[in-house]
Amino acid sequence: MPATTDSVSTFEAEYLLESSLTCPKCSAEMGSLQVVRLLRDKVNFTSTLPRKGYVILCPSCKGIISATLGGI
Ligand SMILES: [Zn+2]
Repeated sequence: MPATTDSVSTFEAEYLLESSLTCPKCSAEMGSLQVVRLLRDKVNFTSTLPRKGYVILCPSCKGIISATLGGI
């Protein structure tokens, strides 16, 4: 994936929305969503939870729209 050169960002990827949506947190119109990876840090060793996941953020307020474990 080519890195963008114009900003130092905290998100790992940006996904365009097929149609724009309104952020439930800041009410901004979103044309895209940002994705940040979740990496498991501390875990009970009996845990069967996935090691990775991701968080989907609003690009305007950085509010968490959704978080998912596994799937990467
Ligand atoms: Zn927002």
